[in-house]
Amino acid sequence: MQHQSFNKTIFNVILLLLVCLYSCNKSKEAHGIIKANKSLVIVVDAAHGGSDTGTISEAGYFEKDLMIVLCNKFASLAKEYNITAVPTRTTDKNTTTDERIAIADASEAAVFLSFHINRIVPGKPVSSGYEIIVADNTPFYVKSKELASQLIAGFHVANTQTIYTEKNVIILATNARPAIAIECGFQDNPEDLATILDEKKLEVMCRGVLSSIVAYSNTH
Ligand SMILES: [Zn+2]
Repeated sequence: MQHQSFNKTIFNVILLLLVCLYSCNKSKEAHGIIKANKSLVIVVDAAHGGSDTGTISEAGYFEKDLMIVLCNKFASLAKEYNITAVPTRTTDKNTTTDERIAIADASEAAVFLSFHINRIVPGKPVSSGYEIIVADNTPFYVKSKELASQLIAGFHVANTQTIYTEKNVIILATNARPAIAIECGFQDNPEDLATILDEKKLEVMCRGVLSSIVAYSNTH
């Protein structure tokens, strides 16, 4: 009898462990969101600002303003992924490259993301799609490239055409962490512009980037 009771206790302990494991996984994937295994700090850089307007569309939108809208949304969603998104600016002001990098250093950010939006060059055909830029002259080149691949895979799932480019962008090259710039389409392309201006579309885009960062972080 004693032996049977011991077996029953063991059975109950195993059952309890299985239930715990199941609920643990469930909370991890609540609402279909996979969170970062460890809490992650990233810098989210709304490019340009102040007298530096960035691109200006035919309709009069300034890149500097659109990127604030995007980065605010991104930061508000990040918490759901166990990510703290530290902004380089939340208002319309000039911020130097050094100041942006100092923010990343002070927050010990694991990743630096700089958000931009292109504009169609007058006289050239209408363009669309995203561009992911990585600097090729930094010790973080390989890791940045791996993060870029993860992002491209994420955009591919969302059916967004994405171009990968390597160029010597100073804010990426001088960062002491994987750093990437994302050109979020073209201002003069109505669909690309709508992704920023339509809150629901913007949320889908931000969640795509966040999921890609989680996938990168959880495997590094
Ligand atoms: Zn820009």
